[in-house]
Amino acid sequence: MSAGTEIRNAAVYCGSSSKCDPRYLTEAALVGEMLADNAIHLVYGGGSSGLMGSVADAVLKAGGGVTGVIPGFMVDVEWAHEGLTDLRIVDSMHERKKLMLGLSDAVIALPGGCGTLEELLEAITWKRLGLFTGPIVIVNQNGFYDACIEMLQICIRERFMNDHHGAIWRIADSAADVLGELESSGPWPRDAIKTAPVK
Ligand code: AMP
Repeated sequence: MSAGTEIRNAAVYCGSSSKCDPRYLTEAALVGEMLADNAIHLVYGGGSSGLMGSVADAVLKAGGGVTGVIPGFMVDVEWAHEGLTDLRIVDSMHERKKLMLGLSDAVIALPGGCGTLEELLEAITWKRLGLFTGPIVIVNQNGFYDACIEMLQICIRERFMNDHHGAIWRIADSAADVLGELESSGPWPRDAIKTAPVK
């Protein structure tokens, strides 16, 4: 793999909504199948609804491994997926995000709401600072992420980020392209903090 590190565990950020276009749920399941087929362990938010449930169910059905990381207050309202063998219950959203990235050597962002966007932008920020150095692949199904990608490009154009920060993320048009983007994502330096400030 050109990134120099084998991907064993991937964090998937995705929406909890089940009311979205069903094609998003189907594509999430295809990502789950791809992970299981390639022996990549899924790390995700531990929910049972929406794309979260779709991706986890698909991995489990294909015989893959899944770790869910969910705050206790979500377990209390019965949001946790009950079929997981590895469910980590944490105290807060901050702890959840920290543990998810800590367990993962790659990030995949599928369509979702504010929670997904928050998680994706945090991963991008951590990579800019060298706190996370793995591939980050944005699945831009149906152009869902066009506006977000444009906003990040505006950040670069308006000199709030450096040109080289555009290499932090990769874009896949569909589930079929995710593995290729993960594998062709270049290495990222652990000392990225040295080049984080805008020049
Ligand atoms: P969103 O993209 O706004 O649907 O949010 C997805 C993220 O929000 C998840 O990773 C969680 O942080 C949280 N979340 C929102 N709803 C749920 C749910 N029903 N079950 C689990 N996590 C949820």
